[in-house]
Amino acid sequence: MIVVSSANGIVGIREAVAILRAGGSALDAVEAATRLVEAFPDDHTVGYGGYPNLLGEVELDASIMDGRTLRAGAVGALKGYKHPISIARKVMEELPHVLLVGEGAARFAAEMGFEQENLLTEAAATVYQQGLSGALPEDQRAWLNVGISGNLARLARITADPERASGTVNFIAQDGDGNIASAVSTSGWAWKYPGRVGDSPIIGAGNYADNRYGACGCTGWGELAIRCSTAHSVVLYQRMGFGLEQACRQAMSDLAAAADTTTMNLVAINRDGRPIGMTTVPGRTFVWMTPEMEGPVEEPRVVVDLTTSK
Ligand code: ASP
Repeated sequence: MIVVSSANGIVGIREAVAILRAGGSALDAVEAATRLVEAFPDDHTVGYGGYPNLLGEVELDASIMDGRTLRAGAVGALKGYKHPISIARKVMEELPHVLLVGEGAARFAAEMGFEQENLLTEAAATVYQQGLSGALPEDQRAWLNVGISGNLARLARITADPERASGTVNFIAQDGDGNIASAVSTSGWAWKYPGRVGDSPIIGAGNYADNRYGACGCTGWGELAIRCSTAHSVVLYQRMGFGLEQACRQAMSDLAAAADTTTMNLVAINRDGRPIGMTTVPGRTFVWMTPEMEGPVEEPRVVVDLTTSK
């Protein structure tokens, strides 16, 4: 049994392990842990308190996958609900679908009895104001309001900077029955174009789990993980016989073929529950914990240099 997460999962990992210890399922563990991060206002990359899109609206993406059945549920560009991971789980359990977005996702959340709430905290709203104007040179700031009411595309190209304002939480758990589940939740890029959906709710891009081989969750530049199916690649390379680290390295170096490769991070496990974290950015960490441990360990991620893989 084990729970693995991105570094910001520290807020929820003990809860996930407690669920496994009590005989709970991997699915329950990753959902409960993700909810704690979603509710944590100081994490501006996930759930409540997340940074908004260009219009100042918090739009959330999340997905959950059951490695036993390969069933999955996801929501994208969802506004007004604090726990997209639980709505994603309901999509998996209550609908013959995998992914709901925007208005449809909000309608479904209401039908399932989730409470609507304001997710934009004062702290996030302040950074939003400063972030937009800070991204523009002084002599162009007057253009900001015109941009917001008119040409958002130009504004998105200037302000949606993945290196400065992004983040996501990944959780992977393997329970006492050997079942693996994975959960991913994010508010996406800060100042993104409204309606933009990243890799987090795209099964195979930002999230994948298969009991037979392992699981992977991604953070970083979501468009890249979508274009290269990164999470599924990690699992597929293990299926093809690669060891865990080699599978992750191969999936990462596949990104180097993209003309505009930038930040990517992943956490993964193999079917024996061995964890790993990998990144293109030196200094990043991930955390993991087993039921035998008193607390989580935070470990450096293996760093890969994609410039040498081109
Ligand atoms: N992958 C997320 C997204 O593209 C952002 C991040 O993890 O930094 O929405």
